[in-house]
Amino acid sequence: MDAVVIVGAGQAGFQAAASLREAGFAGRLTLVGEEAALPYQRPPLSKAYLAGKTDARGLLLRQESFFSEHRIDHLSGTRVTAIDREDRHVRLSDGERLAYDHLILATGTRNRALPVPGADLAGVRQLRSIDDADALRGAIEGVRHIVVVGAGFIGLEFAAVCAARGLSVTVIEAAERVMARAVSPETSQAFRAFHEEAGVRFLFGAGVTAIEGEGGRAAAIRTVDGQSLPADLVVVGIGVVPNQELAAEAGLAVRDGIEVDAFLATSDPAVSAIGDCVRFPSRFAAGMPGGDRVRIESVQNAVDQGRCLAARLTGRPAAYDAVPWFWSDQGPRKLQIAGLAAPGDASVLRPTGAGFSVFRFREGRLSAVESVDRPADHMAARRLLAAAKSLSPEQAADPGFDLKALAT
Ligand code: FAD
Repeated sequence: MDAVVIVGAGQAGFQAAASLREAGFAGRLTLVGEEAALPYQRPPLSKAYLAGKTDARGLLLRQESFFSEHRIDHLSGTRVTAIDREDRHVRLSDGERLAYDHLILATGTRNRALPVPGADLAGVRQLRSIDDADALRGAIEGVRHIVVVGAGFIGLEFAAVCAARGLSVTVIEAAERVMARAVSPETSQAFRAFHEEAGVRFLFGAGVTAIEGEGGRAAAIRTVDGQSLPADLVVVGIGVVPNQELAAEAGLAVRDGIEVDAFLATSDPAVSAIGDCVRFPSRFAAGMPGGDRVRIESVQNAVDQGRCLAARLTGRPAAYDAVPWFWSDQGPRKLQIAGLAAPGDASVLRPTGAGFSVFRFREGRLSAVESVDRPADHMAARRLLAAAKSLSPEQAADPGFDLKALAT
C-alpha cells in the first residue's frame, strides 16, 4: 500500500494519520480537510475556549511542525468533491485529483438546521467549528436575551458559560427534560437543578415555530403554544446529521451514517470510514431500539476508531470493540458516561458523599453508568463494561459494595 488519503481533518482523520505513522506506515499520507485551521479539538469550543480560558493554539491537536516531521500532507481549506472508486482517486475542490490505494472517510457531522421561518436571520447561530465559536464569542458581547434551542450537551454547555457571565439565558427544549436522548431522568433532573441554580431558565415541551426579526436581526422566538420570547441571540443545538453524501454518491451503503463492518471497512475493501460519520456494529448497543448498530458522536470513538483502523492497515487487524465513553462539562459539574443507555433502561442511583452515579441496566445487564463528579465510578464502569463483568442492581445501589475491586 503506497498511498493513503484521509477525507476530513478532524479528530478521527487526524488520529488515523498519526497512528498510521506511529505504526510504521511509510507510504504517502494525505489528510484533506475543508476547514482552514490545523486539526483541532472541538470539545473546548463550548467550554474553555468559549469562556476565553484557552486560545486557538490551545485547541490544536498538534502544532504545524508535527505534520512535516511525520510527512503528513495536510491540505487545509480543501474539500473532496467526489470519489472514483474504479480508478481509485478523489477529486478536490481545487480541481486536482488525488490517487489512493486506501481511502479513509472521516467526514464527521454537521449541525441540524432549525426548519422554521427566520432561522436565517442575523443573530441565529450554531456551534460546531472554531469559526462558529469565534463568531459566538463576539456575538455574546452586548446581547440582552440569549435563547438556546435544544437542551443537549452543547446547548447546556453554552448556556452554562453564558450564565457564569451573568447573561440572561433561556433554553427551549421540545422534550420534557434535558439531555433526554442520552441520560436517565435522574441525571436530567440533577442537571436541570444545577443550571437553574446558576440562573438558566428552561421551557420544556416547547417546539419553536418561528424566529421573528427586526431589521433583519433576530428579535424574538415563537413557540408552538404561542409564546413569544425576546431573543437577540439564538443558538441552535438540535443535533447533527452525518456527512455521508460523498460516500452515498460513490455508491457506498449509508443509513444515518456510512455503514461499516466490525473492522471499519465499507462495502469497498479499499475504503474505510471512522468517527462521527459511521454506523458500526457494537456489542454495547445490543438490545437497543435501533438494533445493535450505532453511530456515536464522541472524541473517544473518533480516536479509538482512528487507532483501530491504523492497526488494521499496518497488519494488525482487530474488530473495533472499545467501550464508548463521553464527558460533558457544564459549569462546575462534570458528567461522564460509560457505555450506551437506551431510553427505557432501568436506573439505579448510587449516592455518595460528593456527586453521584446512575447505573443503567438493560435486560438485567449493566448498559451504562452516568457519573456526576465521580471520576472513580466512571473509571470502574469502563473496566466493568470492557470485561462484561456482571454487576447486580443491588450491588450498584449499595454504597458499601467495592466497585473498584470488582472492576480489577
Ligand atoms: P469532526 O471532528 O467533525 O471532523 C470532520 C471534519 O471533516 C470536519 O473538519 C469537516 O469539515 C471535514 N469534512 C467533511 N466533509 C469533507 C470533505 N468532503 N472534504 C474535506 N473535509 C471534509 N465529544 C466528547 O466526547 N466530549 C465533549 O465534551 C464534546 N464536546 C463537543 C463540543 C462541541 C462544540 C462539538 C461541536 C463537539 C463536541 N464533542 C464532544 C464531539 C466531538 O468533538 C466529535 O465527536 C469529534 O470531533 C468527531 O470527530 P470526527 O473526526 O469524526 O469529526
